[in-house]
Amino acid sequence: MVTTSDLTTSIFDAEHTYIAQTYARAPFVLARGEGVTLYDIDGNAYEDWVAGIAVNALGYGDPELVQAIQEAAAGIIHASNLYLTPPQVEVAQMLCELSFADRVFFCNSGTEANEGAIKFARRLQYERGLHDKTDIVCFNGAFHGRTIGTLSLTPREKYQKPFKPLMPGVVVADFNDIASIEAAIGPNTAAVFVEPVQGEGGIYPATPEFMKALRELCDKHGAVLVFDEIQCGVGRTGTLWAHEAYDVTPDIMTLAKPLAGGLPVGAILMTEEVASAMHAGDHGSTFSAGPLVMSAAKVILSRVSRPEFLGHVNEVGEYLMERLSEINSPLIKEVRGQGLIVGVELTTDAAALVKAGYEQGVIMAVAGPNVLRFVPPLITEKSNVDNLIEKLTTILAEAGNS
Ligand SMILES: *Cc1c(COP(=O)(O)O)cnc(C)c1O
Repeated sequence: MVTTSDLTTSIFDAEHTYIAQTYARAPFVLARGEGVTLYDIDGNAYEDWVAGIAVNALGYGDPELVQAIQEAAAGIIHASNLYLTPPQVEVAQMLCELSFADRVFFCNSGTEANEGAIKFARRLQYERGLHDKTDIVCFNGAFHGRTIGTLSLTPREKYQKPFKPLMPGVVVADFNDIASIEAAIGPNTAAVFVEPVQGEGGIYPATPEFMKALRELCDKHGAVLVFDEIQCGVGRTGTLWAHEAYDVTPDIMTLAKPLAGGLPVGAILMTEEVASAMHAGDHGSTFSAGPLVMSAAKVILSRVSRPEFLGHVNEVGEYLMERLSEINSPLIKEVRGQGLIVGVELTTDAAALVKAGYEQGVIMAVAGPNVLRFVPPLITEKSNVDNLIEKLTTILAEAGNS
């Protein structure tokens, strides 16, 4: 049973007083972590199945990651992109050698990476002399960010409505629906944005036919194909890039969440053709790719790209899907996902189960109203899966009875 101290209560009082109220938060205050376990300030332990929303790939306290960050912090934390430091170049080279990409632009978050990708795509069409080719196609259920540009590509009434007018020229098609994308794409399409596995929208993997059709249609219409792998990339699906499973490559791929092991980062990976349209002064960032963040990213990429590491993600991911599918509960509608990005669709409100999880010492998240989302640290073991299944079985049984 979870205990709550006066200190926790007073921190929440201060939060309600001083912080803009844009989050519905879990009822505890975190203090530290170790491996895949988090501890709150009252000493309660929680097994972490969220990892800061697909961010903390190596969990908590990884010695190599901690050492790299400590050493970098003692050197130069921030340098500005007017000056060069070695880790930035090393990470860019690693990303290019490990992917389809020829060049990389760094920024500080997923939203920023997608916002930048909009600019890179439009800049390419402009460079081609196609000044009206500015439309962007996105999909129902997509999540690409919260700035006006990326929010425009996140077609959810609740997120968009209070902030209109949004960016013009956005065309929304249905995910995994080839007829719908055929109708949506045209001569004025600058780019198509897609998540190979939709994350926030409820953990929906794209079908192979859909991904293949996207590539063919983008080629046919001269549109830039953008894969948003901010949540599903960097080992999460059991391959380094989620799109590897489809044998289709994009023109641009955006990365963020796990790339620096918990430090803020974003990256836009692109072909030479896309990169060649952007010129000095066309885009920039004060904070991006400083030596502290890039030193962490070096550790993440070198560890996560190892075949043994990806093999582990596959093995534990398959075990997780298998064990979840075995749970005998009328509340479970479907289990879906790939590697360690897994959704459990329920016939009931997922947020209530997340809340019940806290009482059992397990941290889970939702992806939409009826989907429980599991995006744990990639170092999670089968024994952690066993613990989760035991707790989740209890939670589902209690929810079914109430
Ligand atoms: C989280 C997320 C983003 C936004 O990233 P931030 O770092 O929160 O700005 C964009 N796209 C996808 C697929 C995401 O999961």
